[in-house]
Order: sequence, then structure tokens, then C-alpha cells
Amino acid sequence: MDVLQLDVSGRPQAWVTVKEAAILYASDAIAWTLGEACHVMRGGVQRATGLQSRIEVHSIIAVRGAVPSRAWRSSPALTNPKLFARDRFVCAYCGARFAADDLTREHIIPVSRGGADSWMNCITACRGCNGRKGNRLPEEVHMSLLYLPYVPSLHEDMILRGRRILADQMEFLLASVPRNSRLHD
Ligand SMILES: [Zn+2]
Repeated sequence: MDVLQLDVSGRPQAWVTVKEAAILYASDAIAWTLGEACHVMRGGVQRATGLQSRIEVHSIIAVRGAVPSRAWRSSPALTNPKLFARDRFVCAYCGARFAADDLTREHIIPVSRGGADSWMNCITACRGCNGRKGNRLPEEVHMSLLYLPYVPSLHEDMILRGRRILADQMEFLLASVPRNSRLHD
């Protein structure tokens, strides 16, 4: 499992491993936690007390420290795994669902014609549809989009980046994902 790391105001920052989270606990960097303790790490025996040190790692942790105001404004980095997850592994042209290996990052306006490599100009397409569309605009080949692109929010981005998301982590993140997101489907 991974631990969801937030800043002190509750904004998602990263997925970290249990080990990385334990280091934050040990260095007194945790401001508050949410959810149940999901992992217990045992350390060495303290000579003074004879007790074994024990760290309970929670599934959601908020770390102390300043909050960069830029975090809200920047849009999340575009990667193929996140793009395919945003679009639920469904080709925007034929509507079929594919495995990641059979999907491509399709530029609605081709890059060679000035289209941006951005969340708003990229959509998930199967290899067949991408090849058929080629270097043209959708309307030039009479292909229409079955759904529209959008820029994921910070909370949504954390869901798209997560590998194995626990129920309480998902509940926390989804609470801040806009209603119109496909992640609610
Ligand atoms: Zn297709």
C-alpha cells in the first residue's frame, strides 16, 4: 500500500511508501492524520526503557511546513497512464475499452498543425482509430469525439497516479473531485 501525503492545509502532495511515511513520523514531521492506522512498524529496543519503538502509520498523513501557493494553480503533468485512466481506457472515437498497450495518446489537433501536447488537446484512442485519423482534424475525417477532454484537478490527479488506493484514501480524494469528472462514473 501507499500512504497519501497532504500538506498541512489538506492539499494532496504525493503518494509515499510506508517506509517514507515512517521516516516522517520519526522526524516529527506529521501535523495530523486521517483514517485508521494501516501499518505498524517496529524499530529497535530503547536501552533506557527496554521498550521496542513502534510507529503506527496512517493511510493519510499531513506534513508540517509551508504550503507553496503554486500547488493549486499548476495543472498536473500529462502522462499516458494518467490520460488513459482519466478516459477510463475507452477510445474516444470507437467507444471500445482497451488494455493500455493498445491505446495511444491522440492529439485532437495534430501537433504538426499547431496542436498542444496538453490535457485539453489529448484524448485516448485505440491504435486503429489513431491510425485512421492520422494527421487530420476529427471533422476532416468525419470522426467525432464520444467524450471530451478536461484538465484533472489536483485531487483527481492523485487518484489517477495511485496504484492501490485504499477505501478511506479514495473517499477523501473523491470528496474533492468535481461532479462532472468521469471518475464518478
Ligand atoms: Zn478506437
